Amino acid sequence: MGLWVVALGGNAILQPKQKGTASEQWANVTAAVQQVLQIRNMGHTIVLTHGNGPQVGNILKQQETAAPAIPPLPLDLCGAQTQGMLGYMLQHTVNRLLAGSAERPQAVALVTQVAVDAQDPAFRQPSKPIGGFVNEGTAREHMTRGETWVEDAGRGWRRVVASPQPRDIVNLHAIQHLVDHGFLVIAAGGGGIPAAHEDSDLAPVEAVIDKDRTASLLASGLGAAGLLILTDVEQVCLHYRTPEEQPLAAITATQAQRYLDEGHFQRGSMGPKVEAAITMARRGGVGIIAKLDQAVAALAGTSGTRIVPDGHDTTAFSASANTPRA
Ligand code: ADP
Ligand code: MG
Repeated sequence: MGLWVVALGGNAILQPKQKGTASEQWANVTAAVQQVLQIRNMGHTIVLTHGNGPQVGNILKQQETAAPAIPPLPLDLCGAQTQGMLGYMLQHTVNRLLAGSAERPQAVALVTQVAVDAQDPAFRQPSKPIGGFVNEGTAREHMTRGETWVEDAGRGWRRVVASPQPRDIVNLHAIQHLVDHGFLVIAAGGGGIPAAHEDSDLAPVEAVIDKDRTASLLASGLGAAGLLILTDVEQVCLHYRTPEEQPLAAITATQAQRYLDEGHFQRGSMGPKVEAAITMARRGGVGIIAKLDQAVAALAGTSGTRIVPDGHDTTAFSASANTPRA
């Protein structure tokens, strides 16, 4: 029981092998929401958040193709577009699937801003690739406007932006208020729209925030009992994609930190998820990373990877998965 923040991977809503049509995305959203509602039926209160990588990537490509007829918009506006689109799809689907039920909480998607530190070292080293590939001439033209573009292993030029740490969820109070009043809130999509404090003002910044880091901040801010990160792999693995690959069923925060320090989890993908789950466990909660269609089993303890506070028993969770595969 208790409040769970559930984070849906952007790739789960638009899978890499798919074209990106509306009907594909509606089908994926429906499958995700069905999982989320089953968790809700177990008696948990849910706050939903989601990634936006593939969706914001497509918007950037649309802008690139449509320029100069339609001026490209800055990243905060692109992020806001994806929060609106995905928030709407999730909100509509939750409400539609709950339509027949006796007690009917309303889903509501909130456009969410997240404050970052303007001095964050990430701004000095933009590292997160976004959008499509362009030729050198186009890239150089963008660079004259202050953007960073890099040549990517012979595939062309691609924009890179900073991925600073989220510091503060600007709309947290509104989220809390809506949760307290029984709404199923969808918030901080795509990691939130980044902004930095400038004097007494809040100014948008050209950056993307990792949605798993923001999900962790959201869970802390709301005092959640758990954070469930749903992605496209069943478990977190040691020696990922090597013959020694070893899936993890349950580990303590300290064990997870050690594996993280040893470099088992990729920095741009699994790393932030494990970090978010560790933060959760350090606060006395539970962090679970699982495959989207295994959400219910993951909460029951029979699928996924669970990160628990130090001192908690980890042997109760399908111990076989903690031993190397034959
Ligand atoms: P999402 O859109 O859900 O955030 P990501 O692509 O960012 O998805 O992260 C999930 C990916 O992390 C998996 O598809 C997997 O390829 C990758 N990954 C990196 N390291 C590991 C690991 N040690 N164990 C499992 N998956 C890993
Ligand atoms: Mg990710």
